[in-house]
Amino acid sequence: MNISVIGCGYLGAVHATCMADIGHTVVGIDVDQAKVDSLNAGQPPFFEPGFTELLASASTRLRFSTDISNVADCSVHFIAVGTPQSESGAADMTYVDAAVTALVPHIGPGHVVVGKSTVPVGTAERLRQLIEPTGAKLMWNPEFLREGFAVEDTLNPDRLVYGIHGGDDDLIAVLDAVYLPIIERGTARLVMDYATAELVKVAANSFLATKISFINAMAEISEVVGADVTALADAIGYDNRIGRRFLNAGIGFGGGCLPKDIRGFVRRAHELGVGDAVNFLEDVDSINLRRRARVLDVLSSELDGVAGKTIAIWGIAFKPDSDDIRDSPALDIAESLARAGAKVVAFDPEAMSPAEKRVQASGLADMVTFAPTATEALIDADALVVATEWEQFRAADPAALPGAAGRIVVDGRNCLDRELWKAAGWHYIGMGRR
Ligand code: NAD
Repeated sequence: MNISVIGCGYLGAVHATCMADIGHTVVGIDVDQAKVDSLNAGQPPFFEPGFTELLASASTRLRFSTDISNVADCSVHFIAVGTPQSESGAADMTYVDAAVTALVPHIGPGHVVVGKSTVPVGTAERLRQLIEPTGAKLMWNPEFLREGFAVEDTLNPDRLVYGIHGGDDDLIAVLDAVYLPIIERGTARLVMDYATAELVKVAANSFLATKISFINAMAEISEVVGADVTALADAIGYDNRIGRRFLNAGIGFGGGCLPKDIRGFVRRAHELGVGDAVNFLEDVDSINLRRRARVLDVLSSELDGVAGKTIAIWGIAFKPDSDDIRDSPALDIAESLARAGAKVVAFDPEAMSPAEKRVQASGLADMVTFAPTATEALIDADALVVATEWEQFRAADPAALPGAAGRIVVDGRNCLDRELWKAAGWHYIGMGRR
């Protein structure tokens, strides 16, 4: 099939490439010329494991362009543009609306537009009214991929969700044909109305955010009573109804999805007059942000204030195996320390280039600098904060590390071997741990 993907960021570029990988001819459209050039040259504009290789192997059926008229030969058009948080906290729909407006002159009968962006409930119904006069149809097919596993998750999703308008059952076969190899592997495919499909995505992210903030709330209490939240998580995680995953206390969630999705959900629910149903998500958000502040508090108390101190930070990306720094707890902590007068020396295996641009833009380039290696970040440091659980940080030999005068380590992800670090002479401080 001939397919277009409008919006080639973390989601769209991977989706376009995976669709080419499973045999379709794909054109990816983006307004960012540099991104398009880089993708056409086989160089991903962001870090995602396995993506470079897939981009190379799928290249004969895949091209990228800024010219939307290149979608003319395609009959299925995925919308994968960003829906960032606006100032009010609601999802900013400018990009989705612009993409659909640009697409409309190029679609007609027999075409199917498939929404993948995460949107406020009610969006698909609104867009249907723009798309249907052309004779084309609209489906909503939310995306659940995780950065760091984007290729794997796109090719082997836990489930596919199809949101359709009543009476459009014939569209199911179109999307089944797109996803044929995935469906043939027995992947669950769930068909529902637009509103339910839109809600599935924000409900899933709300649940995951709640689970993380729940264990971080237990960490806050553990810190006061001298309990160990990791042992607590292990013990409650044995209960199958609870499960151990997403119960790792630390500096909380970030990235381009969870924080803005829960805030957008709260805003949308209030608009719909059902804000009370999701007010708890405001607490989830507050607990999450408090964990970032906790690192500052701990360092201030251990170092008798952070002003004038040098703090090494391992990890800047919001999660390992990604270079995404959107709403990254690690970067937020680095910037807060700098604003409090500390000199921050950071290292991240993949996210230093976007992070450098960001600290320059925020006027903190003098206070937040970057070291070429994790070890070099430690030279002259008064303390170390592990802020992103990259494997190389977990695997570091604490006995072989230089610097860090007081040998204080704040394990913001509870990802280090506490006993090993203590045995190497470090003063280990975990999150929610004695
Ligand atoms: P992103 O910012 O990385 O990418 C968005 C892309 O859209 C950018 O490259 C931008 O230049 C492009 N764009 C903006 N306006 C355009 C237009 N009018 N025409 C063509 N291209 C345009 O964002 P992302 O992380 O890929 O997220 C995209 C959507 O997918 C969001 O709604 C997000 O919530 C959702 N989502 C993301 C993930 C993820 O892990 N990143 C997972 C599931 C869902």
